[in-house]
Amino acid sequence: MSVNQNPEQRKQVLDFMTSAHQSFSSVKEGANASYIPFLASVPSDLFGIAIAFTDGEVLEVGDTKYEFAIESISKVFTLARVLEELGKEEFKAKIGSNATGEPFNSVIALELHKEHPYNPFDNAGAIATVSLLNAKSSDDRWNQIISNYNLFAGRELAVNNEVYQSESDTNAHNRGISWLLKNSGNMYTDPDQACDVYTRQCSVAITCRDLAIMGGTIANGGINPVTKKQVVNKENIQPILAEMMMNGLYENTGNWLYSTGLPGKSGVGGGILAVVPGKCALAVFAPPLDIHGNSVKGQKVGAFLSEKLGWSLFNK
Ligand code: GLU
Repeated sequence: MSVNQNPEQRKQVLDFMTSAHQSFSSVKEGANASYIPFLASVPSDLFGIAIAFTDGEVLEVGDTKYEFAIESISKVFTLARVLEELGKEEFKAKIGSNATGEPFNSVIALELHKEHPYNPFDNAGAIATVSLLNAKSSDDRWNQIISNYNLFAGRELAVNNEVYQSESDTNAHNRGISWLLKNSGNMYTDPDQACDVYTRQCSVAITCRDLAIMGGTIANGGINPVTKKQVVNKENIQPILAEMMMNGLYENTGNWLYSTGLPGKSGVGGGILAVVPGKCALAVFAPPLDIHGNSVKGQKVGAFLSEKLGWSLFNK
């Protein structure tokens, strides 16, 4: 698939997206996340697929205008911001770039590694990443994060306050992780502040179209394909994609790579992002999750489209 596809080729991509939507809409496996009460109330049959190409064209099928919680996919974009500030070597030393093989919020994984985070996508590493931002106050930290997300999306995003409230009421586990990080010297601001800003970033509402454009910015070497603004330096794309490749779908990352050959990132809100470097990004939203916290339909769509469109990075 070349970047500058003609309308006929784009129509073929849209046809495959439509057939993926038709084939997988009846899938009943998985369940909405329920440990964050609000997420359990999101209609389970919502299903959207969007692709943003590096030339700025966006194709959409299904519920692509519905706003859902970005959750862990936010970790990709905060990582991008902190990489800009710290550079990849310092970031790797402070946070890490390997998988723990344990669930995303595992305290055991933290204890096994002297309470040092292992990567920016497990909650420990993600909260520590938020704490690394050089900020004067909680508001300053938050404003840096949301302004950066806005640049990735090419529009002003906002927190869904119901999600934020629901997560804040139930995030004692993440607060515990934040204090363990403090205990080991791996927390770079007040632990409660870092956890609160992290909770807010997870509660940002995005559409499937937004997510495709945010991922499209990564696929496009850091330049938003729609606004044409440089959002992240090209040199930071490799570490971002490396982290996605290594741990984007938690303990199911290996299975995802087997079937897609692409860096991806999931969130418990039901979103999944896959990046095809230099070409496009795929975003899927469908709330029912597998036991690891990854959208079931999202994974099926990723595998289907990657195969049909020859996206795998391992088949070149
Ligand atoms: N806010 C969620 C948490 O911290 C994000 C988890 C995810 O999407 O994987 O538990």
